Amino acid sequence: MKINETQLALVDRQIKRILASGNYYSEVYRKAGITGVSSPEDFEKIPFTDKADLRNAYPLGIQAVPDEQVVRIHSSSGTTGKPVIIPYTAKDVADWATMFARCYEMAGITPRDRIQITPGYGLWTAGIGFQAGCEKLGAMAIPMGPGNTDKQIQMMIDLESTVLCATSSYALLLAEEINRRGLRDKIRLRKGIIGSERWSDAKRNYIARELGIELYDIYGLTEIYGPGIGINCPGQTGMHIFDDFLYTEIIDPKTGEVLPDGEEGEIVITTLVKEGAPLIRFRTHDLSRILPGVCSCGCTSPRLDTIRGRSDDMFKVHGVNMFPSQVEEILGQVDGVSSEYKIDIAHDESINRDIIMVTAEAEGRVSFPQTADQIRTLFKSRLNVTPKVVIVSLNTLPRSEKKTRRVFDHREE
Ligand code: ZN
Repeated sequence: MKINETQLALVDRQIKRILASGNYYSEVYRKAGITGVSSPEDFEKIPFTDKADLRNAYPLGIQAVPDEQVVRIHSSSGTTGKPVIIPYTAKDVADWATMFARCYEMAGITPRDRIQITPGYGLWTAGIGFQAGCEKLGAMAIPMGPGNTDKQIQMMIDLESTVLCATSSYALLLAEEINRRGLRDKIRLRKGIIGSERWSDAKRNYIARELGIELYDIYGLTEIYGPGIGINCPGQTGMHIFDDFLYTEIIDPKTGEVLPDGEEGEIVITTLVKEGAPLIRFRTHDLSRILPGVCSCGCTSPRLDTIRGRSDDMFKVHGVNMFPSQVEEILGQVDGVSSEYKIDIAHDESINRDIIMVTAEAEGRVSFPQTADQIRTLFKSRLNVTPKVVIVSLNTLPRSEKKTRRVFDHREE
């Protein structure tokens, strides 16, 4: 979907505001000779922005308004280096709540609902975003934050929570605990809003079945407001992104070329009205695609497919791009194997070939050598590469609530 006239005018206004602010990006744009945009072609010439820029601008170099207009900051911690600080104006906070309230509404949640919020409150954008959206909608927020499972379940029963907001890992843990304690009949949940990350259908089905709820994926990242900038509708065909606040592109992560709707690549987002820290063409490093066509629900905003992993995890072997989603599909077909994995790619000089090593986790009840054989065979038939496979015990590979890096390409070192 090309950028439309209205969006283009908003980007033009953002560029002029950035230039006038004298912030980090004003220097970038001045050097690149960018003074505004008046066509989609102009827009595509604007350089991408990346998390590395935001780190260079630490702490408040990307602030584009005077101090007295900033009402709050949030921070995203990177896996390496300095954190990123994002300043918000009162309007930014209000806009975020508006989008988040729309997300709840799209999921069929009403002011009569009671929303149990388990993502963390604090520097990062999770809990507080769920809370602001809930209050804007007019529903009852139950601001639990993460952990303390006994208390979570007690509140869920006593307050008759109808909506659970959680990461997929925490929703799974709660579902298992409710099942183990035989409390299924005592809970009143009907919907789950799950922070979007890659998660397996097996996990999704288990949570939906055990808790008896309908699940919705919510999308977002701290650099672009936070969670709540998009959600899947009852049609469950992709996540609608609110195009009056954001313009979304998909690019080839290696070349930066903009890809047509339907093709998988990296999500790039432009904030159209953000004041505190406007970002133009921000590379999210999340992999997905824009679903072509209009959704059956009637909402005309563009839809992103389920997040398929990180662009840092896309790899190229023997000239072929491979996506983390393909690895997951393979592992999903092998009995007793978890969805966690690690891939190492290196060049072996002695045979002048690239070597791929797959590390996967398997349950103790299955034979590790047979499992390794199965994975090797599936890789050969699906991706036309034969990896070395190492099987380790469950819970050996590192887990993270955030976005875990799984592919390590040692050829570039
Ligand atoms: Zn829809």
